[in-house]
Amino acid sequence: MRITHRIGGKAWTGIAQRTGDVYDPATGQVGGKVDFASAFDVDEAVTAAREAFSRWRNASLAQRANVMFAFRELLNARKSDLAEIITAEHGKVLSDAAGEIQRALEAVEFACGIPQLLKGGFSENASTRVDVYSIQQPLGVVGVISPFNFPAMVPLWFVPNAIACGNTVVLKPSEKDPSAANFLADLFAEAGLPDGVFNVVHGDKEAVDRILEHPQVKAVSFVGSTPIARYVYETGTRNGKRVQALGGAKNHMVVLPDADLDLAADAAVSAGFGSAGERCMAISVVVAVNPVGDELVGKISERIAGVHVGDGRRPGCEMGPLVTGAHRDRVRSYLDAGRSAGATLVVDGRGQPIDGDDAGFWLGPTLFDHVDVDMSIYTDEIFGPVLSVVRAPSYDAAVDVVNANPYGNGTAIFTNDGGAARRYQNEIEIGMVGVNVAIPVPVSYYSFGGWKDSLFGDSHAYGPHGVHFFTRAKVVTSRWLDPSHGGVNLGFPQNT
Ligand code: NAD
Repeated sequence: MRITHRIGGKAWTGIAQRTGDVYDPATGQVGGKVDFASAFDVDEAVTAAREAFSRWRNASLAQRANVMFAFRELLNARKSDLAEIITAEHGKVLSDAAGEIQRALEAVEFACGIPQLLKGGFSENASTRVDVYSIQQPLGVVGVISPFNFPAMVPLWFVPNAIACGNTVVLKPSEKDPSAANFLADLFAEAGLPDGVFNVVHGDKEAVDRILEHPQVKAVSFVGSTPIARYVYETGTRNGKRVQALGGAKNHMVVLPDADLDLAADAAVSAGFGSAGERCMAISVVVAVNPVGDELVGKISERIAGVHVGDGRRPGCEMGPLVTGAHRDRVRSYLDAGRSAGATLVVDGRGQPIDGDDAGFWLGPTLFDHVDVDMSIYTDEIFGPVLSVVRAPSYDAAVDVVNANPYGNGTAIFTNDGGAARRYQNEIEIGMVGVNVAIPVPVSYYSFGGWKDSLFGDSHAYGPHGVHFFTRAKVVTSRWLDPSHGGVNLGFPQNT
């Protein structure tokens, strides 16, 4: 199956110089070939978006909201079709794909309220018979560059707000699972979005670089790994663009001695191995505060034994394969690295039964104990089903571990002590904090973002920050019907 761009409301019909294989990770087979955009193809998409912008920026708020409502209804009605597309290219189990779409729907619902969100301020008689008011205007063409791990949700963190604010969009989704983006483009067209307002170009670095350089692209929202996020931020801002670049993560879950250890173990397994650990909000490190380590590791191991790994389309499967064979091999290499570094390999994911095709990109849930912060299994973002337990002698030592980590996306504390939880949320240098909640992804009317190496730029994703990011402010000072303007006066205007 050929997977191609959507430019100006149409499937692109050109001949691609370069293409990429798209795998079904549960079978290891190539399911499609995706066209890789050249700089010229990106220019076509930006031109289509630029032409559409001249009209879309003046579309009424009512029209924009109507399109978003229609899109929301279509997405809700077709979510099982989209979940199948995601599972076939990403590998996550169908229920997990459905969960991703549900969270994406929340972001669309937020954008349905755009008339309310774009209300400005008005000050009558700021000076005598002079009124002052603020308006938020769209930026123009914006680029969205997204990762493989949420092929529907992450684009929809940005695209609805960008469009509802009056911008037009060129989306460059991950080349590993590109079909969800085309599905979204087709739904937007069906919802009545004019041609050219939302365009999709597929590809790799070449397409990304052209988006970052193109003078008509005014802003870029990026999500992906930290080295690429840093590169996108530096390159995009150097070229005069507004950029928000969300990067990788190493999320810690601190378990205090007074915590409910069954709750904590359930949460660690769910958040560590859901989506095979390929979530930027996955828990990859459990910090067990003395003396709970042994008991907690025992409880986590028991639960891992019950995780059903297999083809996400088969009933009962809870964890699917990794996205590609290369990624699976990289993740698997950490099992030997961790053991050689001296960590205790409590559960080895290589030996577990798989309910799926032997050629799939499998690795079962893996648990390391007694991990030190200088081991590569701790320092690196593994992005797979490998959970590390670090032992900490005290609450203060646990906080020091988390705060010393260069990533700052999400964290959780498990405790029954409200005072300790409150202290943690105050002291921890992380953008999103869960209290007895392992994956604290904010609801769509807040915004999503990490600190430190997990986000470059000053705007978080979606919610109020999204509206701020995709608009620029204008303030108008006006005087009407005032014959007593005072004649010529070269002094600086003062309010009277
Ligand atoms: P990635 O950085 O490899 O790719 C992300 C995007 O950048 C893709 O569209 C890809 O085509 C493009 N890209 C890759 N290499 C590039 C290069 N050299 N130059 C320009 N563009 C390039 O990330 P991924 O593997 O697709 O996704 C997983 C990563 O994303 C993890 O690090 C994960 O933590 C992170 N992530 C972060 C968040 C967040 O909100 N902070 C959310 C989801 C995923």
